[in-house]
Amino acid sequence: MISRRDFARRAATGLVGAAWLAGTGSPLLRADEQPAATSNKLGKMNLSFKPYLLTLRHAFGVASVTRTTTMGVQVEIELDGVVGYGEASMPPYLSESTESVLAFLNRVDLSQFKSPFEMEDILGYVDGICENNAAAKASIDLALHDLVGKLIGQPWWRIWGLDKEKTPTTMYTIGIDEPDVVKEKTKEAASFELLKVKLGRDKKSDREMIESVRAVSDRPIAVDANQGWKDKIYALEMIEWLHEQGIVLVEQPMKKTKIDDIAWITERSPLPVMADESLQRLTDIPKLKGVFSGINIKLMKCTGLREAWKMLNLARALDMKVMVGCMTETSCAISAAAQLSPAVDWADLDGNLLISNDCFDGVKTAPNGKLILSDLPGLGIVKRDKPVNRLDTL
Ligand SMILES: [Mg+2]
Repeated sequence: MISRRDFARRAATGLVGAAWLAGTGSPLLRADEQPAATSNKLGKMNLSFKPYLLTLRHAFGVASVTRTTTMGVQVEIELDGVVGYGEASMPPYLSESTESVLAFLNRVDLSQFKSPFEMEDILGYVDGICENNAAAKASIDLALHDLVGKLIGQPWWRIWGLDKEKTPTTMYTIGIDEPDVVKEKTKEAASFELLKVKLGRDKKSDREMIESVRAVSDRPIAVDANQGWKDKIYALEMIEWLHEQGIVLVEQPMKKTKIDDIAWITERSPLPVMADESLQRLTDIPKLKGVFSGINIKLMKCTGLREAWKMLNLARALDMKVMVGCMTETSCAISAAAQLSPAVDWADLDGNLLISNDCFDGVKTAPNGKLILSDLPGLGIVKRDKPVNRLDTL
């Protein structure tokens, strides 16, 4: 027998392999090293969770709000010494809070399931506990994916059949701020091949933002209006002007309810127009065909990886572009989203670079923004003893 600690280490590095699925033991382990669980007698899944305050490197402004910290909730599902990690980061506009996430997680009872491999049943049950609470549901989904991947001994990009060399470069986001601050932030991001600039306050501020970035960088830029533009004619004029400034896509130009106006813009836009706030879950996608060029999938909005994978495939079937985005979150949730990233057109996965207390190691970000996935199983993450300022390690 190997010790529980040793088993957990081997599971975390992928050595346990498919033994759990087959019940036959791992070919990588000697007979006397096979974990007890290879007899298919799995223990109980233990769920635990706690709030975590994320501190931002810079005050972060979007069209509606500016903030310096944000709360998250960290989740663990432990089974026979193997721990799957998940995280909830709450999008402000979906009215989830630390309290609502904790209240939701207190209602989750995993003891009724025999095995974490019953993912469809487990996550169907979690989704059915109540409406909404997408981030809370995602935290369970992520922890379960991490656990199952570790038990199988494979990362999710490989389970899904993706090529990890095909990851995109992540955008690096510049929030709305004064011109001098924007220039400083842009200089800090000089090595990134694709920037993302937040717009949507007013014409003067929008032009100032782009001109401030352009004063110090000629990199391609993705623009996110966060529903901020009020009028379709103005929005189209802005997009045409942005096109001349080397912008490559526009996200959510107008309010999510202005479907006809957005369809009008998309039809005439020289740039792809992507849905973010207009989109939450799988069933939203068919009605966005013809309204937007594509969708921005975010785990915290869509309840996690299981639904995100279905969304990606549905969008492709409808010939729509796909980007994967994030909230302000640690390398736990960012690494989860990165598992999908070889299959998307654009990735906006810089949430872990915007905080100064990242408590996970996971997907690496090369200086140019290229996401580097590892062969570690599950979400490819390792919990850190000491939180780190991720951007300092690039
Ligand atoms: Mg957005």
